[in-house]
Amino acid sequence: MSTLLQPVRGTHDLLPEDTRRHRHVEDTAFAVARRYGYGEVVTPIFEFTEVFARTLGETSDVVTKEMYTFTMGEDSLTLRPEGTAGVARAFISNGLSQSLPLKLFYRGPMFRHERPQKGRQRQFHQVGIEFLGVESPLADVEVVSMGWRMLEALGLKGKIQLEINTLGDLDSRTAYRNALVAYLEPMRLTLSEESRARLDKNPLRILDSKDEEDRRIVAQAPVMTDCLTPAAREFFDQVTAGLTALGIPFTVNPKLVRGLDYYCHTAFEFTTDALGAQGTVLAGGRYDGLIGQMGGPATPGIGWAAGVERLSMLLGEAPPPERPVALVPMGDAMAALALADRLRAAGISVDMGFSGNMKKRMARAAKAGARFAIILGEDEAARGAVTLRDLDSGEQAEVAEERLLGLLTAQKSE
Ligand code: ATP
Ligand code: MG
Repeated sequence: MSTLLQPVRGTHDLLPEDTRRHRHVEDTAFAVARRYGYGEVVTPIFEFTEVFARTLGETSDVVTKEMYTFTMGEDSLTLRPEGTAGVARAFISNGLSQSLPLKLFYRGPMFRHERPQKGRQRQFHQVGIEFLGVESPLADVEVVSMGWRMLEALGLKGKIQLEINTLGDLDSRTAYRNALVAYLEPMRLTLSEESRARLDKNPLRILDSKDEEDRRIVAQAPVMTDCLTPAAREFFDQVTAGLTALGIPFTVNPKLVRGLDYYCHTAFEFTTDALGAQGTVLAGGRYDGLIGQMGGPATPGIGWAAGVERLSMLLGEAPPPERPVALVPMGDAMAALALADRLRAAGISVDMGFSGNMKKRMARAAKAGARFAIILGEDEAARGAVTLRDLDSGEQAEVAEERLLGLLTAQKSE
């Protein structure tokens, strides 16, 4: 096939059925977020490359391999690979530090040049939240539990596990970094090439390696929880106690780290066994250093992002759309179109049949999932009436046109 006729590798069209599921995920996420006081922000799909390069860390996978970067005139621009950096940039650009604490929700496409496979695309979609301005571990409890409630609202409770860890504060991380390097250094040559590079630049990342030999080595490595300062341990204890108080089940996974550089304290992932290797559906953590590091006022923050495609795959079917009324004109098609126009203006969803014999049109009505068919014959039209057929029961009756809207509206609200 000519390249003109196929989508770019790793990108997908969402046909109406897919889109319905996709929107159901997004809308449910936002409905839940609204209950927690979040407002929706829409930031640009591209930013100056620096926005991501600086915040995600020069050594992160995303920055080193996955960004779609291009030059326009003097500017280096990048299609956003994730949402937090753009929201943080918007927070600073719009001077929102006067409005703390601030709760922001976003949704939309993200772009990462990685190897496409099931649950991994080059253009994919996320819903996400950022809660800025609260240092307390109770904010972590609220944010993590909200992720759980959102997945519950999607009916996914039984398919999901929550794993949580702490990355501690700066002192804990320094102590842990030293312990980890001391453990890994003698095995430097056995590590994957990528992990060898990380050993010097960002050893914590090695915990996240997908390489099998790396994983074997990492399995015996010291864990963060052994290196926590008393303050960091107290923080983590409050987070886990809060989740327990809310009845949210979780396991502590001391090897869980987030792929990005700016996290501290709480890190968490909601995972599933139902999607093969791409099992993480929602992930997040605390990033107190991020906004300061970008040049804004020091502002604590915590958030998460969820993959809409992965959630859609888990969902199976979205709730069905509203069933339309099928309009089947047998005589004056323009009169039928005018009737459809009046019904639609009154909020009724109408599927208008434009061609075919009676049998074909009824088949189309069934396919559209119609609840009722309105048959507009010449004889009834002369009496100002239509035939209304209940497609579920097969019953039908002649109804005066002026009563039609009332009947359909009453049925709809039943
Ligand atoms: P992974 O380990 O799967 O690469 P990640 O750590 O890179 O995930 P995050 O940056 O935390 O992912 O993004 C949050 C969520 O977005 C993921 O948990 C996942 O559901 C989704 N996601 C990330 N990358 C992709 C992708 N390439 N295709 C589809 N969904 C993705
Ligand atoms: Mg990734």
